[in-house]
Amino acid sequence: MPASLRDTRSAELYARALNVLPGGVNSPVRAMRAIGRDPLFVVRGEGAELVDADGNRFVDWVLSWGPLIHGHAHPEIIAAVVAAAEDGTSFGAPTIGEVELAEEVTRRMPAVEMVRMTSSGTEAAMSAIRLARASTGRERILKFAGAYHGHSDGLLAEAGSGLATQGIPASPGVPVAATANTIIVPWNDFDAVREAISEHEFAAIIAEPVPANMGLVPAADGFLDLLREQASANGALLIFDEVISGFRVARGGAQESTGVLPDLVVMGKIIGGGLPAAAYGGSHTLMEMIAPAGEVYQAGTLSGNPVATAAGLATLALLDESAYRRLEATTDALARGLREAAGDRPVQVQSTCGLVTTFFSEEPVHDYAGAKACDAAAYGRWCRALLARGVYPPASQFEAWFPSLAHTEEQLERTLAVAAAAFGEVW
Ligand SMILES: *Cc1c(COP(=O)(O)O)cnc(C)c1O
Repeated sequence: MPASLRDTRSAELYARALNVLPGGVNSPVRAMRAIGRDPLFVVRGEGAELVDADGNRFVDWVLSWGPLIHGHAHPEIIAAVVAAAEDGTSFGAPTIGEVELAEEVTRRMPAVEMVRMTSSGTEAAMSAIRLARASTGRERILKFAGAYHGHSDGLLAEAGSGLATQGIPASPGVPVAATANTIIVPWNDFDAVREAISEHEFAAIIAEPVPANMGLVPAADGFLDLLREQASANGALLIFDEVISGFRVARGGAQESTGVLPDLVVMGKIIGGGLPAAAYGGSHTLMEMIAPAGEVYQAGTLSGNPVATAAGLATLALLDESAYRRLEATTDALARGLREAAGDRPVQVQSTCGLVTTFFSEEPVHDYAGAKACDAAAYGRWCRALLARGVYPPASQFEAWFPSLAHTEEQLERTLAVAAAAFGEVW
């Protein structure tokens, strides 16, 4: 007998929302269309649990898609936010928190000596590309199929047919000219990277060093080294988009855990501790090209906002070495448990510290084509069955689960029991 979910209040709110918000939401994945149901309206989060408008309680494995590595409403983070807000929410003038946060980032990330803050990862990635173009005097960029770097025009490109192709707009409204300088290459394809590099002069190669926007698809052995080597040989910058991996896969992100050093780093999500903050950074030489130190223009009314900065600082202060050991243990237990729950069904559980994806696939997934070949309908049935039993999964096959420092052993055990029952409902 399948479990069910009360959703009367959520349905009422969704009907109202559809009237005033496109698709009823302010960001597409929240609508849950990819798993074939309507969204649930959240009223409260407590640690790793969510409470919705009908009083349903869920173990939350999304946690705002990455920022909440300490779970919802962590008391120390909330105290820092309240204290900052009481002193004023925005000044449009420098504050000490911005300096402290930038110093903390430079202590953690080996490739970052200097930081410029923005309000969103989209802005940070767009601005890093602008800087790369300014510093190289070139326009073309290399991006990977299935990688997401925010929704700025030039990065909202998808691959045409063929190996290394000129990007075509991934959305109506993106001018063909905006993606004409974006070359798209399949992730983990060594030859396609070499071929693109031999054909073009690039301003930058931009990559998620731990791609998690096509589901989690880690780099093959040596692939990040290849990107470093090929970027340098080409005279291009290497940009790591660590909006997800930064402060999650390790204290200093993937650049620390892999030892592959990019020229520019894009940060977001955890750096804002659940409030809107993001950043890009790199060497003094590159970053001092940014206005007003240099001539590359980039600005923001709420950039380095004191409340967001306080949340980011409080979040990072709680992320010491022991935190990463605990996060790794929780991740491993989740991944192992999901694998056992799936048994011999066609499911691949891929994981790295702080990230897990359950691909509904016979084969391990190495690239976007593999992710797209997954059985999204079966994944949707599984997610609906999880929700009905009190577990809140990412509502898309192309996203990761976000294990956190707030998930308890009991919540983990409950999740795995529910996952097994939900697999039983799919097959
Ligand atoms: C979320 C994300 C972004 C965009 O950040 P926003 O704050 O949503 O604009 C960019 N890159 C990666 C890798 C992301 O996961």
